[in-house]
Amino acid sequence: MKPYERTGSKNSNWKGGICYDRLRKGIYSPNHPNPNFNHIYVYEYVLIAEEMLGRYLKKDEIVHHRNGDVCDNRPENLEVITQSEHILKHTKDLHNEKWKENLKLNISNRDEKGKFRGRLQ
Ligand SMILES: [Zn+2]
Repeated sequence: MKPYERTGSKNSNWKGGICYDRLRKGIYSPNHPNPNFNHIYVYEYVLIAEEMLGRYLKKDEIVHHRNGDVCDNRPENLEVITQSEHILKHTKDLHNEKWKENLKLNISNRDEKGKFRGRLQ
């Protein structure tokens, strides 16, 4: 079963199921073993990464957004790494002016529905 099919969209009590924790989109996923918040919501990017991997994330794995935009859940922007690798990456990114410039560019590159117009910089 694909992660998306576990999210409850076929449930007869379905009443939507998208919830926003700040900027990160959470999907109602009552059967997921590792919910991210409120016991039943999983971040959309976690579901997408798990679909790409074909398995659930391990406890020490985290989904990193390559361009730093946590709303940009295109598969090419997602990378599954360990917690310690993740801290290193962010430390490096925050000292990289080009990376910060690209983040601004990507965020301004959306249409009015929040979809991206171009490819990753
Ligand atoms: Zn990250």
